[in-house]
Amino acid sequence: MKIAIMGAMPEEISPILEKIGSYKTTNYAGNKYYEASYKGIDLIIAYSKIGKVFSTLTAATMIEHFGAQKLLFSGVAGAISPTLKVGDLIVATKLSQHDLDITAFGHPYGYVPEGAVFIEADKQMIEMSKDVAKSMGKIVQEGIIATGDQFVANEDRKNWIGATFNADALEMEGGSVAVVCNALNIPFFILRAISDAADMDASFSFDEFLQTSAKESAEFVMNMVDKLAD
Ligand code: SAH
Repeated sequence: MKIAIMGAMPEEISPILEKIGSYKTTNYAGNKYYEASYKGIDLIIAYSKIGKVFSTLTAATMIEHFGAQKLLFSGVAGAISPTLKVGDLIVATKLSQHDLDITAFGHPYGYVPEGAVFIEADKQMIEMSKDVAKSMGKIVQEGIIATGDQFVANEDRKNWIGATFNADALEMEGGSVAVVCNALNIPFFILRAISDAADMDASFSFDEFLQTSAKESAEFVMNMVDKLAD
């Protein structure tokens, strides 16, 4: 079994590489990919760089070039739901693209013909995450994640995204990774730890909590991988 673990930024995968210890680095398509054998599983690990385009490229590369059969994403996000505070974990049930807009033609936000507004994450791994949360003594909220090519630091925009997609958190890669995995029939799991509240203070909060929140998320994802290895 070959599993992909991806993040968007170096901080999101460095705790994973540290835990694994030794790995082989390959340069491919303008990025670095790390291969390792871990508890009988082959891992392919990478950070994509920020945004929908780079994350699409990386997810597709991990699957098509490196042969990943499942994909787990670990990273940070801005909270929409008031029940999510900095450091809290959210598992995506489904994802959408909040900046995809051809509404001028009468389509809903987040929709293009032959696409779908929402893409569902793998139910089996979501179920598994409940056991992992229990074993770690952590509370993990499930919810909808909205993705777009913008760092949201604005209450109005955040509230609009929340209302339009019924979303609980927002970030910049999950929705595009979901499109890739869905198209290629690869089960995927997207986990985010909150770094900010997508409000006026978001950039300051992000800078302060990126490292600790990214670590929270990475630790959880590695426990998921442990469970998949069982
Ligand atoms: N500080 C970085 C830019 C971070 S962009 C730099 O200067 O290089 C924000 C990253 O964290 C994205 O990968 C996104 O997925 C996630 N994220 C966290 N909070 C977010 C928010 N409020 N809006 C959008 N993305 C957010």
